[in-house]
Amino acid sequence: MREFDYIIIGGGCAGLSLAYELNLHNKLDDKKLAIIEPRIEYVRDKTWSFWKVCSHNFEDCLKKSWNQFNLRLEGAVPTQVNQCQKYPYQTIDSGLFYKKITDNLKKNKNIYFFNKIDGLNIKNSLVFNSVPEFQNQDTHLWQHFCGYEITTKKDCFNDKTIALMDFNCEQKNNLHFFYILPFSKRKALIETTWISKNNDSSLKDYDLQIKSYIKDNFFNPEYEIIYKEEGAIPLFYPSNSNENNKINIGTAGGMTRLSTGYTFLNIQDHSKYIRMNIDKIKNVKRFELSSKYKILDKIFLNVLRKNPEKMPDIFYKIFNRNELKAIKFLSNKSNLIDDLSIILKMPKWIFIKSLFN
Ligand SMILES: Cc1cc2nc3c(=O)[nH]c(=O)nc-3n(C[C@H](O)[C@H](O)[C@H](O)COP(=O)(O)OP(=O)(O)OC[C@H]3O[C@@H](n4cnc5c(N)ncnc54)[C@H](O)[C@@H]3O)c2cc1C
Repeated sequence: MREFDYIIIGGGCAGLSLAYELNLHNKLDDKKLAIIEPRIEYVRDKTWSFWKVCSHNFEDCLKKSWNQFNLRLEGAVPTQVNQCQKYPYQTIDSGLFYKKITDNLKKNKNIYFFNKIDGLNIKNSLVFNSVPEFQNQDTHLWQHFCGYEITTKKDCFNDKTIALMDFNCEQKNNLHFFYILPFSKRKALIETTWISKNNDSSLKDYDLQIKSYIKDNFFNPEYEIIYKEEGAIPLFYPSNSNENNKINIGTAGGMTRLSTGYTFLNIQDHSKYIRMNIDKIKNVKRFELSSKYKILDKIFLNVLRKNPEKMPDIFYKIFNRNELKAIKFLSNKSNLIDDLSIILKMPKWIFIKSLFN
């Protein structure tokens, strides 16, 4: 059996972010790390976006950054335009992220990559696990989506403003919106996004949804699909257990904000926390999202489950003339005044009722 000081199970976003953070701060100069990752090669498979509310290691992997975003309600022509110069909305190309990190890690002879865990002694190592375990998958809510990155022959997109949520689409008793990241006037990622249980196949004719959205909203343009991405983010915590020599990270470690699916920056915060405490990690408090967000997100999802038709309006109100507070709240950086400004915008009776359910 081969022995390592640290083993990272899953070399995806959380596993690689942690390995990079440790290596960058010389924590692997005299420690051996094994990364277990079954994929054979790294290619772009995700587009990670977030409001930049704190610094991170991946500015050089940005695809684009925007200072404006909008929301559109069903049937509405004018949209709400929000400014976010203070916290720009950034998008990271996972292909660049994987390349930057794997190139960096390969230079350290103390870091080893394996496809399987067989043959490694995990009992004497500190294990960081990023493989989530799920129970009762069908009864929970998921954010599931599919996106096309397209290039068009004519100018189609407002490249200054992202469409964060365009609710002007069929809802089918769930929550549905389109999300557009315009990389230029002729290139954008267009995603159809649902929040629903994951067992309704009638919501998953994604290709049809995107094609008709493009046709109806951009005057039936000629276009080419240059990249496709599909995924599902659990809006519930996985059932991974915490053990003495094992720390769950990433989705498995509860780093997803359940009201939004945003995970990337929480993964970066968690990696920094582990790096700063690595020598005493078993004796420090486990890193978790603050319980105030967990409680508020649970209430929010209860409301969503029971009143999906009310949600476009609720999202619209959260951001309306309140964007900086809303961004801080959704990115776990809000203070009490920010929290109150969000809570006061909620329809009181619906939220009070959902507290008792
Ligand atoms: C398509 C997509 C887009 C997303 N976009 C955003 C976004 O814009 N903003 C945001 O904040 N969050 C986003 N998320 C949510 C979240 O940031 C990502 O899911 C992120 O990749 C989570 O990191 P992770 O390391 O937990 O999981 P992953 O990145 O999925 O890494 C897990 C790794 O474990 C490996 N693995 C699987 N099984 C095993 C096994 N048995 N043994 C060892 N390894 C195994 C997998 O190959 C994978 O590499 C998105 C999620 C998806 C799916």
